[in-house]
Amino acid sequence: MKAEIMGIGTELLMGELNDTNAGWIATRLPPLGITLQWVTLIGDDLAQLTHAFRQGMERSDIIFTTGGLGPTQDDLTREAVAAAFGETPAVQDAQVTQLQEYFRARGQDMPSHNIKQAWLIPSAQFIPNRNGTAPGWWAERNAKIIISMPGPPVEMQSIFRDYVEPRLRELAPPEVTLTRNVKTMGLGEAAVDEIMSEYFGHENPYLGIYSKADGIHLRVIARAPDQAAARKMIAPVEQAVQDRLGEYIWGYDDETPEQAVAAALQSRDKTLAVMEFCTGGFLTNAITEANDAARHFRGGIVAFGPESLAASGVPPKLLENHGAVSQEAANAMSAAALTQLNTHYAIGVTGAPGPAELDGRPMGLAYIAIARATPAGPQVIRELEIRVPPRRITIKRRISNQALIELRKLVEAGE
Ligand code: ATP
Ligand code: MG
Repeated sequence: MKAEIMGIGTELLMGELNDTNAGWIATRLPPLGITLQWVTLIGDDLAQLTHAFRQGMERSDIIFTTGGLGPTQDDLTREAVAAAFGETPAVQDAQVTQLQEYFRARGQDMPSHNIKQAWLIPSAQFIPNRNGTAPGWWAERNAKIIISMPGPPVEMQSIFRDYVEPRLRELAPPEVTLTRNVKTMGLGEAAVDEIMSEYFGHENPYLGIYSKADGIHLRVIARAPDQAAARKMIAPVEQAVQDRLGEYIWGYDDETPEQAVAAALQSRDKTLAVMEFCTGGFLTNAITEANDAARHFRGGIVAFGPESLAASGVPPKLLENHGAVSQEAANAMSAAALTQLNTHYAIGVTGAPGPAELDGRPMGLAYIAIARATPAGPQVIRELEIRVPPRRITIKRRISNQALIELRKLVEAGE
């Protein structure tokens, strides 16, 4: 079944109110076997709303609307649904009584405008609203459904959960949507796009490509009558990703770089320390996000400026000769962290955090070093120069993620 969502309210078009309802509803639809195809924002205008509903019913089976069910003159959703169906609303006495009781319970008389909230057209039924005065409408004719819910998220969500979702579940053909997310690092989005090009552009299974702070993600989505069938559809595409991008894959689904590192180190009883210069503790923070990080993480030294690097065991002479933003500095940082915290592995990251250049190094240029312990002392086993977009938070995220993914690769390879 194809669906669309319409956010109703001039506030939404003025940029005064952000539409969060559509995103929330969107997350609930795949398990119901409903495919969302459009999201539209429409102002409080009867002609435009009516037009949108008519158009929506031509291209979709279900239209979800939020907003415009209040008692005021600019709340026009009911009027527009009635117009789109070509029906005339009539006041429902039982609903009037309920509204009057609602107000009486609050020591008030029902304002006359609220009578609108007791309107109904022949093709619609009320959707009860426990949290407000405005009931929703379930309007249905010729296999087209318009589900109108109030705008306030609390009201909309409880109506959706309690009433709309159960009713949709009965309606939807049995179908599951399964997703497999493959995470790569090391190639740009365009390169990955080209390598996988023949797999894009299909509806089911669908392959999407997304650039994230922890690399390029490939998401395979399949819809099928049951889990096993959906898995079968995903398998060949996932295999193709594996065959073509295997060396760049570092994780799947909800896995994070810090979890991947934790798993790799803990399964081998290895320990980690880091020294970071341009990331302001971001790398240390990421590592400690992993469950049970205390089992493999011995600590992070956060330097910010050459003085703190020198104080943390990086030779001042080296900083003078090569600058704090250099491969040499990263190497020395990894060695110093490893020695001071007595670990099996250590990461050193340094870069220019901006806004200006640092020692002639442009913002976004960074160096990563990974050292391991040997009987002869720290040995650098990976050196890496990277350039990331010159925004501070991006720099922090990308450098941290890349350092962790590189480390995990080395640990898995038994280096
Ligand atoms: P009410 O009876 O409260 O007037 P309503 O159904 O008429 O409900 P609106 O008047 O359109 O809804 O919106 C009421 C409030 O609901 C808005 O001020 C806003 O806080 C919230 N709201 C409306 N639409 C959205 C939306 N798309 N996303 C998030 N919040 C929304
Ligand atoms: Mg309103």
